[in-house]
Amino acid sequence: MILTRPSMFAGIQVQTLIDFPGRIAAAVFVKGCNFRCPWCHNADFAYKDPDNFPSIDEEEILSTLENRKAFLDGLVISGGEPSLYGEDILHFAKKVKALGYALKLDTNGYDPDFIEDSIGLFDFIAMDVKNSFEKYPETCGLITMDIGRIRKSIEFIKRHFSAHQFRTTKIPGLVTDEDLDKIRSYIGEELIVQEYKNRNV
Ligand code: SF4
Repeated sequence: MILTRPSMFAGIQVQTLIDFPGRIAAAVFVKGCNFRCPWCHNADFAYKDPDNFPSIDEEEILSTLENRKAFLDGLVISGGEPSLYGEDILHFAKKVKALGYALKLDTNGYDPDFIEDSIGLFDFIAMDVKNSFEKYPETCGLITMDIGRIRKSIEFIKRHFSAHQFRTTKIPGLVTDEDLDKIRSYIGEELIVQEYKNRNV
């Protein structure tokens, strides 16, 4: 009997000029997330109903990347939250690297051990710092959180990934200018602030 595992991937964007600094990239989006951000743009496959969201096979993604090598030089692995897949997503990333692509990881930073395991594989890492630490759980739609994991990921990324960015989406009524100043003090470097676009209107 052949057992097949459900695909990790909800979809692929075959070209983006804005998601991987300095590169023409494709982006793949994994299903599932350990956060429940009420304002999430990808909530359907991140946490609402990932099992019933359409999937794309890993083989199809690799084939697309192979065919588009002449036009692309990077892949963004985004989500959802890629760290949920641990070794499986790292194994996929190694296959993409072998095709000659540079790799960028988008993460919520809640798994510092995964980030540690990613050293040497990802050329760029972007971590969302959701809010000031006291407002983190409500921003992520959780009751409680271990903020130590977020702190650890920030320090780890600063120490080990020369190409990285920390970014925050300014959610109206939730992330204030005062919160942004606190986040800047946590990271001690430039913060990318993204304006929230409500895609439901
Ligand atoms: S961490 Fe990102 S993917 Fe996960 S729920 Fe929050 S906004 Fe959505």
